[in-house]
Amino acid sequence: MADPKGFLTTDREVAETRPVEERVQDWNEVYKPGSLLPIISKQASRCMDCGIPFCHNGCPLGNLIPEWNDYAYRNDWTAASERLHATNNFPEFTGRLCPAPCESACVLGINQPPVTIKNVEVSIIDKAWDSGDVTPQPPERLSGKTVAVIGSGPAGLAAAQQLTRAGHTVAVYERADRIGGLLRYGIPEFKMEKRHINRRIEQMRAEGTKFRTEVEIGRDIDAKKLRKRYDAVVVAAGSTTSRDLPVPGRELNGIHFAMEYLPLANKVQEGDLTVSPISAEGKHVVVIGGGDTGADCVGTAHRQGAASVTQLEIMPKPGEERNANQPWPTFPMLYKVTSAHEEGGERVYSVNTTHFEGDEDGNVQWLHLVEVDMSGGRPEPKPGTERKIPAQLVTLAMGFTGIDKTNGLVEQFAFGLDERGNVARDADYMTDVDGVFVAGDAGRGQSLIVWAIAEGRSAAKGVDRYLTGVNSALPAPVRPTDRALTV
Ligand SMILES: Cc1cc2nc3c(=O)[nH]c(=O)nc-3n(C[C@H](O)[C@H](O)[C@H](O)COP(=O)(O)OP(=O)(O)OC[C@H]3O[C@@H](n4cnc5c(N)ncnc54)[C@H](O)[C@@H]3O)c2cc1C
Ligand code: SF4
Repeated sequence: MADPKGFLTTDREVAETRPVEERVQDWNEVYKPGSLLPIISKQASRCMDCGIPFCHNGCPLGNLIPEWNDYAYRNDWTAASERLHATNNFPEFTGRLCPAPCESACVLGINQPPVTIKNVEVSIIDKAWDSGDVTPQPPERLSGKTVAVIGSGPAGLAAAQQLTRAGHTVAVYERADRIGGLLRYGIPEFKMEKRHINRRIEQMRAEGTKFRTEVEIGRDIDAKKLRKRYDAVVVAAGSTTSRDLPVPGRELNGIHFAMEYLPLANKVQEGDLTVSPISAEGKHVVVIGGGDTGADCVGTAHRQGAASVTQLEIMPKPGEERNANQPWPTFPMLYKVTSAHEEGGERVYSVNTTHFEGDEDGNVQWLHLVEVDMSGGRPEPKPGTERKIPAQLVTLAMGFTGIDKTNGLVEQFAFGLDERGNVARDADYMTDVDGVFVAGDAGRGQSLIVWAIAEGRSAAKGVDRYLTGVNSALPAPVRPTDRALTV
């Protein structure tokens, strides 16, 4: 156990962010480099090594949190990294981007601020990279079996790494020009610098995973033909169909899905473009949708020099404390101030967009909204609350409705879908097509990176069992029936 009195003698501290006025001038991560180093062992010492560590269950990966807290407290960073990698292929992604349901489940959190688990996680992995502890782990022998993975987001990458290490020959097919899925083209550089993806890709290449970019399965290669070429297929194609807002004026110029807007800003950071063709510079920006995707649009608009940024949410403002419906150790819906919100802009709750108004050239200029009452479960407009706000760039960040069904992939495989339109699968993550598995948002619906990695690992175990005919030794955290734990 880390220091038995740590939680009595040490207060919670988290990574320091750079001053707002400095960080909105660049696209680098918002955190102050090195700010965790002096505090992190003390923070790890706050872990009480509980008899029943609820944080394990809170983490979809089942991360061995008290074990690596103990190593971090003792400054044994190599052992900490080994325990961390025992359950998580990419802790540098989760340590930066995870909303940390583990911390909501931390026992200390019942009556004190919880252990800063996510910051310990990122410190362990950053130190491991710096000290050369993260090395390729190629398999000792090859199985002679081949696997195609469709999609290179966190689910596809986790499945591919697990299966390559198990000795199978794995090729990852990605329709985009770079590997990474939403990590690459959804999440902005200021939340996670893309160098973290690049070095993992290098590690995976050295282990033997092959990558094929700019190949869309369904369009460029028939899905059934792909199935014939490989002994198994993992579909990790994400939930990339954006939810639309079919109100009058939607067709005006300047109204874009978040996933039309954000990738272009990331392409500027990759050096492909000098300026984004959809820029917020000098514009009144309205972001519709109060979640993570919306917050990423807010932070991007700040950095592009927006005149103003307003984020709209149809639901009421969440509370700042748990209520009776969301007791410990559940992951509660609380009011969150992300780094993008610290940087400015206004958030407006309980409002619905009625229509957009444009100028004579067809460019959006105004967004008309009305306040709504959600107490009955549906938005009831409040009479007399209609108003309009300036809107020269609007981004729609209202979630995603499932896997892309336009490119032939779903049709050619003739997948069965579940009641939410996601690809249906059994307890081994196999779809109703023999030898074709599904992991991540494609099977689960829009979710989190930690869940995508967890499902990639679980699907890999299902594939390994299918290919070898014996119980797989690959470690795996979740089955589809664990959906009750969804956050
Ligand atoms: C803007 C934004 C911000 C987010 N921020 C966070 C966050 O901070 N923390 C968090 O935990 N989660 C966040 N999420 C959610 C998280 O990114 C996803 O849950 C996660 O990436 C899902 O992983 P995945 O591998 O299932 O799919 P994806 O990451 O969506 O990857 C799927 C990949 O498949 C490719 N593909 C699709 N069809 C084909 C085909 N037919 N052939 C070849 N390739 C194909 C796509 O191009 C894509 O690269 C965010 C999501 C968005 C949109
Ligand atoms: S992956 Fe997320 S839930 Fe799991 S330990 Fe890390 S921050 Fe916590």
